[in-house]
Amino acid sequence: MAVPLPLPALHATHAGIWLADGQGDVREASRGEAIARAAETPHIILNAPLVGQRLGYPDLSGLDLLELFAFLHPARFAVPTVAGLSRTLGLEPPTADAEAARALRAIAERLLSVLADPDWREREGAWTSNATLHRLGWGWAPLVGARLERPERGERMLFSRLRQWEEAAERPPPRTVLVDPGDTSRKLDQLTGRAEPREGQRAMAEAATQVFAPKRAKDVPNLLLAEAGTGIGKTLAYLAPASLWAEQSGGTVWVSTFTKALQRQLDGEGPKLFADAEERARRIVIRKGRENYLCLLNLEDALQGAFAGRAAILAQLVGRWAAYSKDGDMVGGDLPGWLPSLFRRAGAAALTDRRGECVYAGCPHYRRCFIERAERASREADIVIANHALVMVNAARGREDAPGRILFDEGHHLFDAADSTFSVTFGGQEAIELRRWIVGPEGRSRGRRRGLAARLMDVASYDDEGGRALDAAIEAARGLVSDGWLQRLVEGSPFGPVEALLGEVRGMVYARAKAQEAGYGLETELAEPDGALVSAAAAAGEALDQLHKPLAALARRLEAVIEAAPDWLDSQARARVEGAIRGLAWRRETLAAWIALLGRIGGEADPEFVDWLAVERIDGREYDVAIHRRWLDPTKPLAGAVLAQADGVLVTSATLRGGEGWPAAEARTGAAHIAGAVERFEAESPFDYEACSEVLIVTDVKQGDISALAGAYARLIEAAKGGTLGLFTAVARLKAVHARIADRLARAGLPLLAQHVDPIDAGTLVDIFRDDPRASLLGTDALRDGVDVPGESLRLVVMERVPWPRPTVLHAARRMAALRQAQDERGGSAYDDRVVRARLAQAFGRLIRRDGDKGLFVILSAAMPSRLLSAFPPGVAVRRVPLDIAIQRVEEFLTGRGNADEAANGAEAREIELEGP
Ligand code: SF4
Repeated sequence: MAVPLPLPALHATHAGIWLADGQGDVREASRGEAIARAAETPHIILNAPLVGQRLGYPDLSGLDLLELFAFLHPARFAVPTVAGLSRTLGLEPPTADAEAARALRAIAERLLSVLADPDWREREGAWTSNATLHRLGWGWAPLVGARLERPERGERMLFSRLRQWEEAAERPPPRTVLVDPGDTSRKLDQLTGRAEPREGQRAMAEAATQVFAPKRAKDVPNLLLAEAGTGIGKTLAYLAPASLWAEQSGGTVWVSTFTKALQRQLDGEGPKLFADAEERARRIVIRKGRENYLCLLNLEDALQGAFAGRAAILAQLVGRWAAYSKDGDMVGGDLPGWLPSLFRRAGAAALTDRRGECVYAGCPHYRRCFIERAERASREADIVIANHALVMVNAARGREDAPGRILFDEGHHLFDAADSTFSVTFGGQEAIELRRWIVGPEGRSRGRRRGLAARLMDVASYDDEGGRALDAAIEAARGLVSDGWLQRLVEGSPFGPVEALLGEVRGMVYARAKAQEAGYGLETELAEPDGALVSAAAAAGEALDQLHKPLAALARRLEAVIEAAPDWLDSQARARVEGAIRGLAWRRETLAAWIALLGRIGGEADPEFVDWLAVERIDGREYDVAIHRRWLDPTKPLAGAVLAQADGVLVTSATLRGGEGWPAAEARTGAAHIAGAVERFEAESPFDYEACSEVLIVTDVKQGDISALAGAYARLIEAAKGGTLGLFTAVARLKAVHARIADRLARAGLPLLAQHVDPIDAGTLVDIFRDDPRASLLGTDALRDGVDVPGESLRLVVMERVPWPRPTVLHAARRMAALRQAQDERGGSAYDDRVVRARLAQAFGRLIRRDGDKGLFVILSAAMPSRLLSAFPPGVAVRRVPLDIAIQRVEEFLTGRGNADEAANGAEAREIELEGP
């Protein structure tokens, strides 16, 4: 039996603060006392940044159970709450806050008891890692060390424990086959385990076979747009023909999603396709952008001293995780999303390859590299699960693994994904990144980051021409912005032509822009620039050109060196040169786009693009100054670079048409720019929305009255007893509402979580929300689309306002274009309506996720126009009611008690006729 730990524990929520002493006796405490106690003796806590925030003492430290969990069970999922951790460890979750403080001690004991368990799966590496953590001052290390037996033989090094990937011969191109709709139907039966799949699902599976037919003509893919209502089972409907085609043709199908939630859900369907885990891992591969994965070289660097203090502890825990991770994905993979937040995000990003400094085969960990492994695995896979951005970048850059058959799920996001993928930003942050990539670390910066010169040392010494180009590039890169640039801009003393341009940009933004939300970004159209800005742009463009030329010369030289294969070019050097060629191609592309952008300043506007100037700020603090360029219609490059190059494409979503007709769907997905026929498919949701949902438009909450808004939220959440997703269009209002109601709700046993307030990533907030039916969650845009919470945990969605698009420069330009196209003034508002309908449909879509779900959708704005109600599924009752009636209705609807219709009618509520588009 475990000896009880003589350690005190500290638990804090919005409802209060509790201390458990070393014997487990619990009492309530004031903030001041809790802070003083925690400073005297390390307390067991759960999520130090969060507890610190509750205490108003952000520097709080202690024995964080989440860190211990991450050490003992790396790559294992747990909801990071007292109840969540208790359940994961087989303990009874506490039912009251006072009990939670005691539960923290029980969790600690249970976790530490794992160290003596002979069946502990993650034992290997723990002793070595704990010894280092001890030296680094990790609070748990002495407690772990006292219970962890030293292994008889020395433990293998982390890196040698990682699996190597094998080089394989290039896969032949897929054979031309025809997928039989009958086979597809049988495959679907097998996948669903039912003899009779739902009709809509079967019809969709059969329709989707046409995507896999041979391509008809150059630049004309087999293109199917499919709107499949929630609950159809569209995932299996397209996986049925996709898996058949992959098997019969020997090719790979790429399934692309926008949200991580769907990526996870798709991965969860894997066992239906391949029951055997090993086969599954080979045939279904998740791929993300390289900046998501752990770079082992960066990790090695961090473990060997490049990281100090808390960041060094994080590196050790990430090292533990790396040995047990399925795929090394640090963002949304099996690294707990909460782990980097415990370290206030210090260091986590530096462990990935965000700056494109990979040295490829020149890296000692190349054969074990997670990124390389994922890339190779995806070449051999039947199904690759990726995201829209990666699919677009691969296709646009003409990479060899550009997909031939693509199934875009969450297709309503294609427009936004293309919008950011094909955008250009030239600003201080981007320029300094480029400088660092070329010049390498300067001043006091540490780490292994090396500039081009260090990476290409042998080229510089053996190849004169290459050496000269390299020197010229480094010299020119020093003319880009350097450390302290933003401060110099503020002081009006920029250094060099690029900083001078950014100084002019900043000046023009402050002169012309109007803030949309206090303390956040400022922007202004790039139109009628003054003379100073035009001259600064010309000088900066010249400086960029001076950099582009030697980089181009260097790339040519490197290619010539590879071709000539001189004696000094051993395999390591070749690998480094090849890596540099790849990196150079990407940088030159970026530079060319920047030069083109600057070249336009003061000249003719290009009607294809929208350009604007911006000062980026968070909470009033500036962090970037930039010039932005977006395509007016980003589906043009999407169609040209991605769709037209593919052989077959399915674009599907529950809201593809966004409450409008097919032409709207074609415009949003790029289908309108494809020559040849576009096939369409639609299947209605099988859910009885009329019975299981309702929309309430609250008529008496005054716009702009924050107290009234906060009061409405609190009362609605109380009526629903939690389970509420609150959606905001402005961060400031979200914070103001949260500050007013969190304590009140917590005292009623209704925890309130909030994006932008709690120091927890959005994915983890959703996990906590999902896990606790009494919890509610406030958030902004990302939560409108990315939340998949079936069942009781989500039963009420409350939107504070009609989600009109923010009046940005980009929005104004697109609105104007819509107006020109429609040739009457309704074109502009029709454009806005389209955006709002899509957002409402997405937000409503959070409510009913599976059979048996039930919920209400409330909008706290009387100004909701009736014409937008077509965003909701047909048959859903929509009522305009005062707040009191809405609250009554929420209570009755969710408990199934009372006669709500009478209540609504009694208050002279008015049911609105749904209007057509
Ligand atoms: S190959 Fe590149 S990304 Fe992979 S570990 Fe090495 S440097 Fe990092």
